[in-house]
Amino acid sequence: MQIQKYLDLNEEELTISCRKCGETLCNADENYKEHSAMRTGPVTDAGPAFEPPKKLLGQDPNLEFRQFFCPSCGVLFDHEFAREDDPILHDIEVDVDSIKA
Ligand SMILES: [Zn+2]
Repeated sequence: MQIQKYLDLNEEELTISCRKCGETLCNADENYKEHSAMRTGPVTDAGPAFEPPKKLLGQDPNLEFRQFFCPSCGVLFDHEFAREDDPILHDIEVDVDSIKA
């Protein structure tokens, strides 16, 4: 089952894998981002035309731009904006129990 552009959920093994190269990243109930290759940089890395989301803008100088890549093939899974000391956002939470049921 496709859960994101380059992410697949294996409903039998309950794992998340890369759609491009097939690399298994983690168990379905884990945050795949913590198993990705992460690159962080200033928000300007997002491009000169980019405007950070208003809710994060708040004059915070420590806002950073994080990109998450497949550790095997390097495809870009996702990106996020966060303060430097924020934990990695867990934006895809798989309801493992409902899959098993
Ligand atoms: Zn890959």
